[in-house]
Amino acid sequence: MKVFKFGGASLKDAENILNVVNIIQNFGEKQKLLVVVSAIGKTTNAIEDVLKKYWNNENYEQNVEILEKYHFDIAYDLMKKEAFNQEDIEELKDTFLALRLDLQHWHKHSHKEMVYDQIVSYGEIISSKIVFAVLKNKNMPLDWLDARKVIRTDATWREGRVDWEQTLRNIQYLRPVLQEKIIITQGFIGRTAEGHTTTLGREGSDYTGAIFSAALSAENQTIWKDVAGVLNADPKQFAFATLFDKLSYEESASLTYYGASVIHPKTIAPLRQAGIPLLVKSFLQPQNKGTYIGEIPNQDDLKAVILKEKQVWLAFRPTTWQYLREEEVADILTACSGLALKVNLICKGAFILNILTEDRPEKLSLLANRFSFQQEKNCILVTKMGMQDFGDLWNKSKGKVLLELKEPDFQQFVVQF
Ligand code: ASP
Ligand code: MG
Repeated sequence: MKVFKFGGASLKDAENILNVVNIIQNFGEKQKLLVVVSAIGKTTNAIEDVLKKYWNNENYEQNVEILEKYHFDIAYDLMKKEAFNQEDIEELKDTFLALRLDLQHWHKHSHKEMVYDQIVSYGEIISSKIVFAVLKNKNMPLDWLDARKVIRTDATWREGRVDWEQTLRNIQYLRPVLQEKIIITQGFIGRTAEGHTTTLGREGSDYTGAIFSAALSAENQTIWKDVAGVLNADPKQFAFATLFDKLSYEESASLTYYGASVIHPKTIAPLRQAGIPLLVKSFLQPQNKGTYIGEIPNQDDLKAVILKEKQVWLAFRPTTWQYLREEEVADILTACSGLALKVNLICKGAFILNILTEDRPEKLSLLANRFSFQQEKNCILVTKMGMQDFGDLWNKSKGKVLLELKEPDFQQFVVQF
């Protein structure tokens, strides 16, 4: 069997959804297939905006209406193409009603991060129902699966940690279904043992695909993107950007770690462990090969330049005229880990510890309750691999360089704008 994952961009309107359905029909019909979908377009951001108003006690209904209209416009476009029917419209209405009822239900609940997961997860529920309906109307043998029934996590809200043992066991129940039917399910969402919805971290649907692939020993997993595959730089910023035909698991994991956003960083490890290749392909040119990621030797001359944006450079200094001790460094890192705050670079001197981390103000203010530190905002981490012969690709004069790290084949810069 195979696993396909479609992200928001591939589902952003009726035409794109029909394209996805075509891919499923043409590339999936003759084999057993599980399809993971993300929320449509930028729905997750839109639901985050609803929640901002919700917490500020502002009127969020207008935002829900915009979101609803976006989805119903797509549904009616699909209806014109005979890919959606009245029954499907009613189902969609029910789902939006459930979203509104949940918003009312949770309002008094104090745990914001927990409520975030209960609400944001609707994006994926809705998109999977739409894709399911269109495929069903094409008479495909099909099952809709609520991924929360099988993906078990702990209660780390917004960044749920998967209980692998339980999840692998749960997914085995899908094997007989897959003998006969294509399964349509959601990325990004899971459930705690207590029955609360969790999310796996923004852009986490790729990771969900990898969980299903590993649990079902898939032949391979395909991530369908709006780019040709994995490129060695962002083509919007660097004209030389070219496609990798092949990458080893390790190479692709490093690229995503340093910020290549084409694959979610958590995706590679489970696939690598299970020896399952990952294909990254364009949903606009599905016949093209894209990038193959698998158990192949690392290249000697891997060249890439990667930018990791929305970073903040923290500076911790000892409170006395003592050197900064290892124990203090350990305490700070333990606190970051407890907050699920990703540490992307560390640099220690006599009287200073610098940490580059994602700019998550709510987490940083919790960290500030325990430690005092300065923050340099609006930073980017630039990572160059094997790039010495490419000259100075990153125009550093645009920003202030806070740190340079130079090895012959590997350079990093923290640049502030
Ligand atoms: N819809 C979620 C997000 O935008 C998950 C995903 O796209 O993978 O973060
Ligand atoms: Mg998305």
